[in-house]
Amino acid sequence: MRTPLIAGNWKLHKTSAETKELIKGIIEKTGDVSGVDIVVAPPFTSLPAASEAISASLASPASPTSIIGLAAQNVFWEEKGAFTGEISAAMLTDAGCRYAIIGHSERRQFFGETDETVNKRINAALNHTLKPIVCVGETLDEREADKTTSVIETQLKGGFEGIPKDSFPVISIAYEPVWAIGTGKTATKEQAQEVHAFIRGWLKSNYGDDTAEKTRILYGGSVKPSNAAELMSQPDVDGALVGGASLNAQDFSDIIRFSVSN
Ligand code: PGA
Repeated sequence: MRTPLIAGNWKLHKTSAETKELIKGIIEKTGDVSGVDIVVAPPFTSLPAASEAISASLASPASPTSIIGLAAQNVFWEEKGAFTGEISAAMLTDAGCRYAIIGHSERRQFFGETDETVNKRINAALNHTLKPIVCVGETLDEREADKTTSVIETQLKGGFEGIPKDSFPVISIAYEPVWAIGTGKTATKEQAQEVHAFIRGWLKSNYGDDTAEKTRILYGGSVKPSNAAELMSQPDVDGALVGGASLNAQDFSDIIRFSVSN
């Protein structure tokens, strides 16, 4: 069985002080839940504050057992050099990150991310023991033109080009239909399951049964407490990448709890 993974993508939200407060709130509200991996991805500048807040909660005698993993929202592929504004994988692990979100549709849409750069970022993350959470997803036009699976297949093929099978235990894939992100429109559980099953099938053909069975495939796109349980009840949905609802401690902890009870 795959352990569910619930990751909060905070995007361009939260200063250091706000980060500490939100993490404290998530830990308090989540309590001692087990059987789920919890991850938050604050902006780069708030990573040290997040790291401190997590350590402080672990040191407290009243602390819950849930350990929150830190993720970066992006990672650059070069180690060092004249790349103004970029952040390397080694810098992110140094700041306490254990995961990196790669290829989010907002990066693809607004910042020129391609399957080729996704591939470079996955390699860089793996070289520095950052666990990649690799995002794929179709736009509304692509879905309406019946191109969903071909778009996803191209993204998978390009993104994972040359990535060896033995890297897969640390890789998760997030299916995020672009039309569902931040729009309040969620894919139905059937739509999510259909694409998740397609992704698992792709993994099976390219990496074999064992990798396909073990790789976590998360759903993302307007996940909230009211729809998390039914999405997570689908056989190939192994967690969620949560944007808006991850900024609210109560909502995020409700989603975490729903993922365990499914
Ligand atoms: P949303 O964002 O939950 O606000 O739709 C999801 C994401 O972009 O990862």
